[in-house]
Amino acid sequence: MELSYQRRRAVAYFSMEIGIDERICTYSGGLGILAGDTIRSAADLRVPMVAVTLLYRKGYFRQRLEADGWQREEPTSWAFEKLLEEESARAQVQIEGRVVHLRAWRYDVRGEGGYAVPIYFLDADLSENSEWDRGLTQSLYGGDDHYRISQEVILGIGGIRILRALGYHEIATFHLNEGHAALLTLALLDEAAKEAGRESVIQQDVESVRSRCVFTTHTPVPAGHDRFPVDLARKVLGDRNDFFALEGVLHEGHTLNMTYLALHLSRYVNGVAKKHGEVSRLMFAGYDIEAITNGVHAAAWVSAPFRELFDRHIPLWRKDNFSLRYALSVPRDQLWNAHMQCKKQLMGLVNHETGAGMDENILTIGFARRAATYKRADLLFSDMERLKRISNEVGKIQIIYGGKAHPRDHEGKELIKRIFWAKHELQHDIKVAYLENYNMTLGAIMTAGVDIWLNTPEPPMEASGTSGMKAALNGVPNLSVLDGWWIEGHIEGLTGWSVGEPVHGKGKERDHSRDAPSLYEKLEHAAIPSFYHDRDRYLNMMAYSIAINGSFFNTQRMVQEYVLNAYFNR
Ligand SMILES: *Cc1c(COP(=O)(O)O)cnc(C)c1O
Repeated sequence: MELSYQRRRAVAYFSMEIGIDERICTYSGGLGILAGDTIRSAADLRVPMVAVTLLYRKGYFRQRLEADGWQREEPTSWAFEKLLEEESARAQVQIEGRVVHLRAWRYDVRGEGGYAVPIYFLDADLSENSEWDRGLTQSLYGGDDHYRISQEVILGIGGIRILRALGYHEIATFHLNEGHAALLTLALLDEAAKEAGRESVIQQDVESVRSRCVFTTHTPVPAGHDRFPVDLARKVLGDRNDFFALEGVLHEGHTLNMTYLALHLSRYVNGVAKKHGEVSRLMFAGYDIEAITNGVHAAAWVSAPFRELFDRHIPLWRKDNFSLRYALSVPRDQLWNAHMQCKKQLMGLVNHETGAGMDENILTIGFARRAATYKRADLLFSDMERLKRISNEVGKIQIIYGGKAHPRDHEGKELIKRIFWAKHELQHDIKVAYLENYNMTLGAIMTAGVDIWLNTPEPPMEASGTSGMKAALNGVPNLSVLDGWWIEGHIEGLTGWSVGEPVHGKGKERDHSRDAPSLYEKLEHAAIPSFYHDRDRYLNMMAYSIAINGSFFNTQRMVQEYVLNAYFNR
């Protein structure tokens, strides 16, 4: 009885990557972390959800940086047999006419009250499968288009089939976290046709599928939207003329565009911040696109010293993140003490790992995220002489970096090298460190341990951004370009500082050349002086970062919005 009750789940959440635990290496960046935080908050809120992703026995990769900053990828592995429960259920999908057998491994995410949301990790490494097929669930974002579309068959189609095989028959809503899972619509179309006693899918099935799908699009960056040539899609999916002939399946008649497929087959679509909703509406004219601004899981990203502080002053904060608003009444010296504990931990780590010799009394700026060019990690180094002068004359700074480039992103790797070059150029004036192998643990230590969290993406490319929210929850003010969540979270001089002008429309007409000068001005005239010469103001900013932004930019609020506006609102 217990079992059948457990399997009555209203929402199935599909994501190509999920970052739920440091030891479970099935994520590469923000998308995966968001998925993990979403599941945690769903468990806290007792939302009847089940989640599906791929196993990735070899994870993403371990980053090594050579002396000049060039990135080398080393293989990793992780102890999935120890951390996950193997299920006996099996499912099959067809890839290029071959039957590929799948199994699933389960990990239960327990919420505050003990309610569990299971995650199923799909695994094709079974002896029944060919060598190539067995490799399909080995590595995240590892192969070419052919490998990727095959993985997406496993995620979307295999995901639904394994859920059915496990006994989940009552799912009302399928949430496609990004377009990678869009082929689940094909599996649902097939189910609808079968139920009607037909062999092939017809237009009428589209309505029934659309009424059950919710789609979240995550980026305006073109590379983030999977598109496959129809020939490749036909080769992998087989002779599915019925599917390809449906209105809205092929984009411009010749591309299987996962974003358009998901847009066309979902009843509710959203971007991940208000601005990103607007930008997505311009990108995908003709579709209703709402916005639900991202968050982070508060209890997961608040550092131990602040957890203790909140437990003392705001006892219900984990159960009710809105109550973080009362951080305003926490005595400022206690905020500072908690912050210094976090900072000491970070300094210890940085000095141990890099030998940088950083000093806990110096204003520390942090920047860590995927090393993608649009994030402009090197904007701070646009004018080295000015940066040196600011540090030497206005107030000393030191800077800590982290972040992996995608293995095939040559420009992203060059970006890391430029940080290393700047580190060398600045060695007598400003200490710069680059921490290797950025991951969840480092993310938590860095966002809590610096004095200012820096973000300089090229608007409007940063759909939301979440690391700044982790900083805010730990009382760290943001210094950021007005893009993504920061447009909503920014109050000048209170929660942090803005860089450059706001973005309008798609952002094409914005003058990006003003960003670097603006960054220097904000450092020189606002951020550094408040840290060194107006400590009360800085402490107030710590309190407001938690009270205004920590209380709102969390996944507890976000999942509530999904429940109200997307999941159960038909
Ligand atoms: C939070 C986090 C991210 C996302 O950071 P953004 O600011 O959204 O780019 C990426 N990687 C790791 C390891 C994180 O913890």
